[in-house]
Amino acid sequence: MAGGHAFREGVSCSFRARNSIAMPCALCRFGKGGNMPKVGIIAGSGFYEIEGVGIRELRKIDTPFGEPSDAYRICEISGREFVFLSRHGTPHHIPPHRVNYRANIWGFKDLGVERIFAVNAVGGINRAVAPGDIVIPDQCIDMTHGRAATFYEGDEVVHIDLTDPYCRETRGILLRSGKAQNVDLNAGGTYACMNGPRLETRAEIEFLEKIGADIVGMTAMPEVCLARELETCFAAIAVVTNYAAGISDRKLTTTEVVETMKVSLGRVKDVLMGALSLVPEERNCDCSHALRDARI
Ligand SMILES: [Zn+2]
Repeated sequence: MAGGHAFREGVSCSFRARNSIAMPCALCRFGKGGNMPKVGIIAGSGFYEIEGVGIRELRKIDTPFGEPSDAYRICEISGREFVFLSRHGTPHHIPPHRVNYRANIWGFKDLGVERIFAVNAVGGINRAVAPGDIVIPDQCIDMTHGRAATFYEGDEVVHIDLTDPYCRETRGILLRSGKAQNVDLNAGGTYACMNGPRLETRAEIEFLEKIGADIVGMTAMPEVCLARELETCFAAIAVVTNYAAGISDRKLTTTEVVETMKVSLGRVKDVLMGALSLVPEERNCDCSHALRDARI
């Protein structure tokens, strides 16, 4: 199978060979998660402390791209399982520009996860959103630099289609869950991802507004494109934790970000837990064959 992954044992893996990876490849091992959950959640710390969520197992994973931010927590609530990863480590100590995004996404794939729900704290640019609002973004603008943003750095050239960066089906699950849980969600929005860790200038936010960004954060990219490169479905819950620079007269503080996130966490958890019960057994989107026709 030239240039592809056969998803079965005993077949040589071109990804591993061309990218000089000595370890077993997560793509080849896809589906070997055994009884592992197929849903992953990546968010800031604190989420696993939700009442009723039990941690069945802690999994430390080594990847060809280094160590993920933390151990993966295999969690269970009301008979439904998911894999949780703290994006910034436990305790929160890895800044957005230093997160090992490749290792984090690879680890999920290695565990057999097919679908990732991400939680992001964002600043509101669009005047229609205010702190405490929740957006399910459908578009993303990548303003980051210097981040390792692809798994394909060897001889294999892959141009993954990212026309619609977030999975249609997985976004739909979140939106349906919001309705069922009586949580207001903004169904769509463009997330501008900045490098950080500093916050933006007034002029940068004016620029982002002009080019169509509704919210601004620091972690969507390259998470979303790496997931697509591993044919993993990906959707995000973006919590507006503050107005972006210059949108209000207030000075931006991380205290406001943390406090607003705390207040919103209950609704975020309701949406996520509700979503777990809405995830279908089979995927009905294009993500599972995203690599088809993506190689040169
Ligand atoms: Zn999908």
